[in-house]
Order: sequence, then C-alpha cells, then structure tokens
Amino acid sequence: MMTDHQPYHILREKFRRDYRCEPGVIAYAPGRVEVLGNHTDYNEGLVLSAAIDVGTFFACGPRRDGTFRLTAADVDETVEFLAAAPEASRAHPWANYVKGVLAGLAARQPLAHGCDAMFLGDIPLGSGLSSSAALEICAGLALARLYGIAVDPLDMARIGQAAEHRFAGVKCGLMDQISSLFGRNGTLVETDFRSLAVRNVPLGRDVCLLICNTHARHALVDGEYNRRREACEFSARYFATVLPHPVRALRDVSRQEWEAYRGGLSALMARRAIHPIGENERVMQGARLLAHNDLAGFGRLMYESHESSRTCFENSCPELDLLVEAARPIPGVLGARLSGGGFGGSVVVLTQCHAAAAAGAALAEAYGRAFGKPCDARILTPSDGAHVVMG
Ligand code: ADP
Ligand code: MG
Repeated sequence: MMTDHQPYHILREKFRRDYRCEPGVIAYAPGRVEVLGNHTDYNEGLVLSAAIDVGTFFACGPRRDGTFRLTAADVDETVEFLAAAPEASRAHPWANYVKGVLAGLAARQPLAHGCDAMFLGDIPLGSGLSSSAALEICAGLALARLYGIAVDPLDMARIGQAAEHRFAGVKCGLMDQISSLFGRNGTLVETDFRSLAVRNVPLGRDVCLLICNTHARHALVDGEYNRRREACEFSARYFATVLPHPVRALRDVSRQEWEAYRGGLSALMARRAIHPIGENERVMQGARLLAHNDLAGFGRLMYESHESSRTCFENSCPELDLLVEAARPIPGVLGARLSGGGFGGSVVVLTQCHAAAAAGAALAEAYGRAFGKPCDARILTPSDGAHVVMG
C-alpha cells in the first residue's frame, strides 16, 4: 500500500498544519528507469522501462476564491497565483510543472474554483529518475479528481509532457510520464512509441534494479544528443529511398536491410543507424525471453545494448563503461547498461535481490578506485504506477 510510504504521512500532517483542514484528494506518482531500448523513442520504436518504488505525493483541496496556493514541502516554499491564469516563472521553477499541468486540465474544462495544494516526495531531484514527470503526473491525477475532469492515462501523459515543454522548457518525449502511469509491481512497461500501445511484461520478484549514478555530465550533451537524432533521421531518409516499403523512421528498417544497404551510407552513419535498429530488436527479444523467465538471457541483452552504445552510437563515456565492466563478474548480477541519453548519467544493473546490496557496494568501491569518489548506488524495485490514494 502506498499509504505505508513515509512521505504520505509527512505530507498529510503538514497539509493539516499549514492549511488547517484535511486534503480532499491525495495522488501518488513514481519515478522511472529505462531498462532496455536506448534512443528508440524518437525512432518510433520500443522501450522497456519500470516505475520505481520512490515517488511523489500531491495533496489538494478546494478554495472558495480563485487563488491557487501551492507549497513544495521538500523545499518549504509557497507560491500563489490565479488558478485561471497560471504563468511560468523563473523565481520558482518547481511550480512550473504544476502550473503547466493545471493549464492542460483547464484547457479541457474550465476550473470552477481555486485550490490549496502541497507536494512531497522521495525521488532525488535532477538525477535522471524523472522527479519532474512524477510531479506532473501526481499533480495531474489529484487535480483532475478535485476538479472532476475525466482524463484517460495517455492523455494525462500528454498533459505532463506539454507542461514540461511549455512551462519548464524541456523537450522530453513521453517515456517518463507513460512509465510513471503504467508501472505495475514486478513488471516492466513496454511502450511502442509509434502506436503508443503499452503493456506490462512480468519480470518476477526475485530480481531488482540497481541504479548507479555517476553524476558525470560530459560537455555538449545537448549538442551530441541532437546530432544523434539528426543522424537517425538522415539514415531513415536514406533507407526510405532504397527499400521497397515505406520508411518513416528507423523503426521500419530491419537488421538484414541495414546489412544489405548500409554501403550507401558513410561508415559513421551506418554505425549510428544500427544502434536504434538493434535496440528495437533487443526489446522484442527481451520481452520474449522474460515471457520464458529467462532472466540471464535478458541480462545478456542489456550488456549487448551497452556495447552497442559504446561502439556504435558512441553515447557512453569512461565512467559508464567502467561500471558496466565492473558489474560483469559480481555474483548475482545478470546485466548492466547505460540508461537514458548517455554521455554521463546512470548505469542500470539487473541483479538478484539478495545480491543487490553487495553489488551496489562493490560498484561504488570500483568507481571510487578509478575516479577518486564513489558513485551513488541505489536499489530500486519495479513497482505500481501512479494512482489516486485518497479522495
Ligand atoms: P529529473 O526529472 O531527472 O529528476 P529534472 O531536471 O527534469 O530532473 O527535474 C527536476 C526538477 O523538478 C527540480 O529541479 C524541481 O524543479 C522539480 N521537482 C520535481 N519534484 C520535486 C519535489 N518533490 N519538490 C520540489 N521540486 C521538484
Ligand atoms: Mg525530468
């Protein structure tokens, strides 16, 4: 039960104390981890991700006037604005995510009144576990319930994404919001970024995820990210001219077709293209392996994914490579790869739960030996997605 979660009780207590009433609605949304399928989302491909067991709670109640009062309990800051006219502000960047969601809801149905709201969570901010999407989604679910606005989960994901684009200025895809909404205990979330079909793939309860955050961020990350995207779009256009069927994105190109026609691309462009093509295949194969409970096979695909990042897409870095190599010989570890955009950030490790703590300690130590400071290692369990907890 989410109500066992400590932030839930702290939030309720603070809401009572500060606002002198009980919240009418409380909703919860978790962070997420990308487990397999790297840079496949904008190539209209497949991703396996997981909602995790850290998340954010959002509590709210109606006001008689038109004011929206919003408190970030983690940083103990409050802002007030007109519910009918939320505007992005640099003074309180955290408020922009909620204002953006509110604007998205108001576009579907005018808001009848103001609101007292407060949120609190236990996702480390800005470390790639998507605290921003968790905030958007818990706010979205709670406010939709409070204002009586019916929103289906995919639409809610789009409201969160639009808040991120228009109010926070971050051009994210939909993976973070979808993972937070569709997570289920003991499963991975498989998303098809062409059809937006989502399903849960059982992972079992004996394994968990270890996230090792290097805190490395190599220069020009945004520039490199955009260049990779352009390379994928460029090669998709090339394959569209040589293949006998329509190619809208690299999703439409098989490994065999890449082999047969790669000669028309430069060596660099061909290497870039095989990464999302291969990742897409690995996600499909990975889901099949999980259906047969072949966790070792799934782990091997994670190592292959990292190798493809390292040598073909070149979105890895020495910090990430070291962690993946250090993970291989650790007992109970099944697989490891970089997670997210790359060029720094985190490695996700699939490990037997009983071995996770020792594996985390070993990885932090190996990292410390190589780079002079330990990396963060956090054990995370694939968990239930966002939902209204109360009200
Ligand atoms: P990530 O999503 O990986 O955690 P982002 O930079 O996208 O990193 O989002 C982090 C930002 O989201 C924070 O800087 C803050 O503005 C906002 N945020 C998310 N959750 C909270 C929270 N519980 N309290 C205050 N701000 C939050
Ligand atoms: Mg984010």
